[in-house]
Amino acid sequence: MTLFRTTALISLFTFALAMSAVPADQNTDTGDNTQDIDRSIKAGDDFYHFANGGWLKTAVIPAGQTSYDTRAILVARTSARVRGLIEEVAAAQPAKGGVAQKVGDYYASFMDEASIEARGMTPLADEMAAISAIDSKKSLSAYLGATLNSEVDGLTGNADHVFGVWVNQSFTDSQHYVFHLLQGGLGMPDRDDYLDQSSKMAALRVQYQAHIAAMLKLAGIDDWETRAARILAFEIRIAQSHAPDADSADVFKQNNPWKRADFGVKAPGMNWDAYFKAAGVAEQPELIVWQPSAVIGASALVGSESVDVWKDYLRFHLIEHYASVLPKAVAAEHFAFCSAVLSGAQQPPDRSQDAIVATNAALGQAVGQLYTQRYFPPEAKARAKAMVNDLIAAYRARIPRLAWMSAQTKEKALAKLAALRIGVGYPDHWIDYSTLDVVRGDAFGNMRRAESFNRLQNLAKLKQAANPDEWRIDPQIVGAVILFSPNTETFSAGLLQPPYFDPQGDGASNYGSAGAGMAHEISHSFDELGNIYDAQGRLGNWWTNEDLAKYHAAAEKLVAQFDLYCPIPDLCVNGKQVLTENIADLAGLLIAHDAYVLSLKGKTDVVIDGVSGEQRFFLAFAQRWRKSQNDTALRRQIKTDTHSPGEYRSDTVRNIEAWYKAYGVMPGDRLYLKPEDRARIW
Ligand SMILES: [Zn+2]
Repeated sequence: MTLFRTTALISLFTFALAMSAVPADQNTDTGDNTQDIDRSIKAGDDFYHFANGGWLKTAVIPAGQTSYDTRAILVARTSARVRGLIEEVAAAQPAKGGVAQKVGDYYASFMDEASIEARGMTPLADEMAAISAIDSKKSLSAYLGATLNSEVDGLTGNADHVFGVWVNQSFTDSQHYVFHLLQGGLGMPDRDDYLDQSSKMAALRVQYQAHIAAMLKLAGIDDWETRAARILAFEIRIAQSHAPDADSADVFKQNNPWKRADFGVKAPGMNWDAYFKAAGVAEQPELIVWQPSAVIGASALVGSESVDVWKDYLRFHLIEHYASVLPKAVAAEHFAFCSAVLSGAQQPPDRSQDAIVATNAALGQAVGQLYTQRYFPPEAKARAKAMVNDLIAAYRARIPRLAWMSAQTKEKALAKLAALRIGVGYPDHWIDYSTLDVVRGDAFGNMRRAESFNRLQNLAKLKQAANPDEWRIDPQIVGAVILFSPNTETFSAGLLQPPYFDPQGDGASNYGSAGAGMAHEISHSFDELGNIYDAQGRLGNWWTNEDLAKYHAAAEKLVAQFDLYCPIPDLCVNGKQVLTENIADLAGLLIAHDAYVLSLKGKTDVVIDGVSGEQRFFLAFAQRWRKSQNDTALRRQIKTDTHSPGEYRSDTVRNIEAWYKAYGVMPGDRLYLKPEDRARIW
């Protein structure tokens, strides 16, 4: 996969629904993978250009973008479909109660700017009164607790509340859900935005302070300049207690179980009894504190800082949090800083794009039901599941044959494989939205109720046994979620579409493309990323030192191969930097090929347009990596990415015997590797 964010706990690659103007179902990519072949090129000389020559000649990088690939096509197509579905139910106004009504009314209310304008700032009145009523450390603590779990996703890098929360199993106990407490509370994304002394960052802070002042003024709060200066100074103090990024990404530093009763001693200042009671988790015996310094720091600020400063800070973040459903002037100011200054956005998106994003955020699985009903029926899910079963069977057969893994480690690997849960397309059990009231014409109330609904969903989990099959990604997102804790991977319906996967299409192509991608991800559970998590997703290294040494030795040939790839005269790929992902590509391709052979059940595949099943399998693999990108993007990728440029990922085939056979690749062909030079890790 091209984007693979890794924290030690979770490897996640999801793509927000980028909106586009492509009409729904302008599906020119049929998954017919023979039409793009450039037959003027010999497969054994340059397999990537042989497979993709036709496509590369016509692919155009969209204006304002630096690259274009299959993923961009899928995101555009899926976004257009989601837009079509949402607009359809918004116009149809179905009877009250079902998911279609909730989705349609949520969207229509967000679009109803006249109603939003007419209400002005009055929707905030209750919450503003609650903040004004804070008159002691105890009531402040209770307020912070009550607003704790308002994140839809506790994995948000920096929650816009003082702490973010994630309900998940613990690092040592896979049976129970626990509260993971994460640092938060900053209006700008990074600690460095507050602490970096460079003139660039100092200028950013000046802009942020002006933004705070503007928001307070728009909300009718007096003395906005003075308050803004105090709020920024206060956030700088919060930032000082935040953990640096390197620490935040180290799972062994995240795993800090704190007994509920110890908070008062370890992090004095906050009235923790009031806090946890208001948060609805007074009964939790233990919480996992990911960044102790941030919890200690924020708690100390409850003790040391005046309640009035806290109240100004809370008022500002309340306005900021709901800016999208408040009058135009507030939304515009929010965009001017949070999107334009922080992210470089040129102009505000069309309101309807924001409305679609908001509807997906509030009602992800409701939109997902509409999406899969039309675009990913049960037959598609069944076909994807059958492929996953073949991939798992292939892993089960191959693990015992690994040369670098000791017998005892193989046993653990097989147990981990047996415990791995893989979700495809959409959940078996959808979230029940029946208790969430969505009222047409009440954008603010809808957002509040959706947040409250999600909070209750999370709290309810704490009373249940941990469920490794919990669904982690909305089906209409083009992406997947790879979790090591619990031991589970989820591939969305948005990802499982042509040309990666065609439910009605050619099996050879499906296994060579989506199959290789899924097998790549599965391999991470058994490589240097996954070797610190056991079968139940608990922290615990299950490799021996000897396994690790042999694994590194086996990987050397792959490092050497990639060191020789130099797409720009003065810049070569760094084989070590991309090694982990290259090993996963190799594993993915081998396993997918084994699985493809299994799927044939001893029969010979059909020939299509003169192309055999074996050839189509490898062709689809090479086409998986097609990408048009400019030199700046290519340079950045080579210097910083842990994934090689697509052309070289496609060249993974050089290590696979079956590819030589399928395309008759011989000594003398440019991609030919002597058998002893081929990497054998999996
Ligand atoms: Zn990977």
